[in-house]
Amino acid sequence: MSEHRARHDESLTALGRGAAYEDGELFDVVVVGGGPAGATAAHELACAGRKVLLLDRAWRTKPCGGAVPPQLLRDFSIPQSLLVARVNTARVISPTAKKVDIPVGDGFVGMVDRDVFDEWLRHRAAVAGAERRTGAFTHFSRDHDGTAVISYTEGRSRSGAERTVRARYVIGADGALSPVAKQCIPGSHKAKHVFAYHEVVKSPTRDSEVFGHDRVDVYYNAPLSPDFYAWVFPHGPTTSIGTGTFQKGFGLKEAVAKLRIDTGMDTLETIRREGAPIPIKPLPRWDNGRDVVVAGDAAGVVAPASGEGIFYAMTGGRLAADAVEAALQSGKASALKQARSRFMRLHGPVFFVLDVMQSFWYSTDNRRERFVAICRDRDVQQLTFDGYMRKQLVVAKPFSHVRIFFKNLAHLAGLAPA
Ligand SMILES: Cc1cc2nc3c(=O)[nH]c(=O)nc-3n(C[C@H](O)[C@H](O)[C@H](O)COP(=O)(O)OP(=O)(O)OC[C@H]3O[C@@H](n4cnc5c(N)ncnc54)[C@H](O)[C@@H]3O)c2cc1C
Repeated sequence: MSEHRARHDESLTALGRGAAYEDGELFDVVVVGGGPAGATAAHELACAGRKVLLLDRAWRTKPCGGAVPPQLLRDFSIPQSLLVARVNTARVISPTAKKVDIPVGDGFVGMVDRDVFDEWLRHRAAVAGAERRTGAFTHFSRDHDGTAVISYTEGRSRSGAERTVRARYVIGADGALSPVAKQCIPGSHKAKHVFAYHEVVKSPTRDSEVFGHDRVDVYYNAPLSPDFYAWVFPHGPTTSIGTGTFQKGFGLKEAVAKLRIDTGMDTLETIRREGAPIPIKPLPRWDNGRDVVVAGDAAGVVAPASGEGIFYAMTGGRLAADAVEAALQSGKASALKQARSRFMRLHGPVFFVLDVMQSFWYSTDNRRERFVAICRDRDVQQLTFDGYMRKQLVVAKPFSHVRIFFKNLAHLAGLAPA
């Protein structure tokens, strides 16, 4: 490197714009997207000693309710200091305003602010040795010997300079509607989305019937959401008020306005208004059979019924990193398939049950009313929270499942009171 070039690099670093680099540089792995999935994958691979590039366009804070289970903190060594609130009760509210409070039990549901949380994850990946660059992936191609070439526009603006890097493997963790999946993964058009929108407001100063600093409120009510739910999630000084639906023409903003008026929260200061699609069906394939694998929202893995995606994105990122590491070690691209097969073995049954639950119980107000009534049941509460906290269907109490089955039947047949 010339002396002039070395000085140029140094001054760029000093200006905080990152190191200057050559176009076409080869990495073991390029991770596109620095959300929970990508930052986790980059961290794992950097810890394994791989030469990793973490590319993120950094256009905005991810719109998100930010609720995470304690298992996420344990599995991914996340400090509790990143939590802005701890929730100990979930209140479900029926179409006729009947309320059921479900205690979280021994644990808590944590709340994270995504600007701080995601940046912490990206920083950890960089400390482990991943190189961070800010830029938007534009297209995937191959060089003359077939190596993957990632093109991107440098910086935060769409009009940045065009750059390229080469990669032995690529992890697409670029979120819902992933451009990497679109260009590289067969069947990615089969993704199914809930459209979600929320408003971040200044939290009420005091707890009340319609707000609790340590309680999440979940509304099942057609005018607020015809097929999903609306929520009020406390984040300490701020609160997320939002809703989601599969229906494209549904007025998400009007529904949130209604919820705010109904709860008297229309007078609170609004800090941000934002929305994004939530993919809730795992893609049929996560790899291209050669050198690309997707993770997180890019792979379609948000839990149906709950919309929980952060834990699954981080798990997907870790499994994608493991699969790439196996492929790097063995030289066999078939190892990439492990990412999906291992994820579905771990979480497929829960996704299946939640999908059935959403399709059935969230479809009419009559069923939503009965669903909330079922939530009064201790067995259902236990099963729900074991599923959320431990990420598995608990088989240790088979009689609870049988009891729940018969209670469900009674509700379906209209034999139990709503
Ligand atoms: C309104 C709303 C509320 C939600 N609430 C919750 C909740 O309470 N709890 C929960 O667990 N989940 C929630 N989710 C789902 C959760 O936000 C996602 O599942 C999760 O963020 C997925 O992580 P990811 O890393 O796969 O994708 P993302 O978090 O979307 O990250 C993708 C990253 O890729 C980057 N990127 C995108 N395109 C490019 C490109 N072309 N080039 C370079 N970089 C790119 C982005 O900048 C971003 O950093 C919610 C979602 C929404 C929309």
